[in-house]
Amino acid sequence: METDLREDLLKAFEGKLNQTITMYLETCSRCGICTDSCHVYKSMPRPEYSPAARAEVIRKLYKKYFKFQGKLLPALGEARSFDDTTLDDLNRAAYSCTGCRRCMTHCPFGIDTQQIMSIAKLMLVVAKEEPEILSMLADVSISKGESIDMIKQGFIDGLKRLEKDVVKKWKLEAGQIPIPTEVQGADILYVALAGAHSIIPAAAVFNAAKENWTLSFFEAVNFGAFVGDPAKTKLIMDRIINEAKKLNVKEVCICECGTAFRVLKQMSGKQPFKVSSITQVHERYIKENKIKVAKNQFNGVITYHDPCQIARNGGVMDEPRFILSQLTDEFIDMAKRAENNYCCGGGGGLVAMGEDSHDFRMKSAKVKADQVKATNASLLVTACENCHSQLSDLNKYYNMGVEVKFLSSMVADALIHD
Ligand code: SF4
Ligand code: SF4
Repeated sequence: METDLREDLLKAFEGKLNQTITMYLETCSRCGICTDSCHVYKSMPRPEYSPAARAEVIRKLYKKYFKFQGKLLPALGEARSFDDTTLDDLNRAAYSCTGCRRCMTHCPFGIDTQQIMSIAKLMLVVAKEEPEILSMLADVSISKGESIDMIKQGFIDGLKRLEKDVVKKWKLEAGQIPIPTEVQGADILYVALAGAHSIIPAAAVFNAAKENWTLSFFEAVNFGAFVGDPAKTKLIMDRIINEAKKLNVKEVCICECGTAFRVLKQMSGKQPFKVSSITQVHERYIKENKIKVAKNQFNGVITYHDPCQIARNGGVMDEPRFILSQLTDEFIDMAKRAENNYCCGGGGGLVAMGEDSHDFRMKSAKVKADQVKATNASLLVTACENCHSQLSDLNKYYNMGVEVKFLSSMVADALIHD
């Protein structure tokens, strides 16, 4: 490996070495408790797919370049120098981990493999060896933020075409705008994904609740976080923060996108607005009687997949279950549920990598397909776009025989008109 590149990689590595990550790198006792936690290992039991083995790729470099013993006697300290295969190993480790953090909840020391893999992802970015599609999508989001004034009108025109579908779901009262934008002082700024499916049902529910809301000009998903580029992650996040501050909103409601929710909730620092997921907002509307939903209009047994970034890593676990209790008498949880749920296998940018990751995504999520099948559910509900795409692919691949649905669209379809 060229000296300049090695120096750049080490600089990036060093920049990541805060107290917590250093503790993760120093602490692993190799007890192996985490091994069975990982859906990848559980589905494809190969040594390299255990969380500890993934972390070891980084740990060996740490020992070589940041530990006295590794610098002096690398063979003794299990240290490893950069060589021609290092980047391939980093890629294999980082992009076979969805960052679900299930292993962390089982590790006696709470070692966060996702954090360790963020070092690998950053080094791949520095070496320009990251999945190109993820960086490209992040760049598109950033440039949209920079040229919003030029594309605003086109976006608003596009929204006009969705209005009749919003009204079909919920008839407006006089003065209500189906999809409001740029509402100064709105109570809620709703950040959707690109696509009508993320806007129409949400708009119908906001209107039914008579919410003082406004739609963001930006899509929620943060491809910078998927690719592990902190600078891009921040630029993408800042577009939403600046919009929320400019409009002086009280709350930013993130659509069904786990990564977007976790990034804004946990990485945006102290802000003058609250961050919620749409699931939390819908639960609140039902509890406060702002909306009413019809029970049992969806037939058959219903189960719920907890998106890792919303449930285990975002703390939203009771809310979807409360909503489902209002929608059906036939809800059944999976055997491992909520914070203990297995990842769908599509996180960490894998779904966005499309066909390139398809084979791995399917094989590494067999345990998820088995978990769903064991419920005998006919409807599989989730609250994350990424999970929805992955679960739909799994449904075909493993003949799971379910219909995959978004929770928010079920709420919109079940609205009762007084
Ligand atoms: S459970 Fe924790 S300490 Fe044990 S091998 Fe896994 S990461 Fe290391
Ligand atoms: S974060 Fe998830 S995918 Fe990554 S090693 Fe841990 S359990 Fe496996």
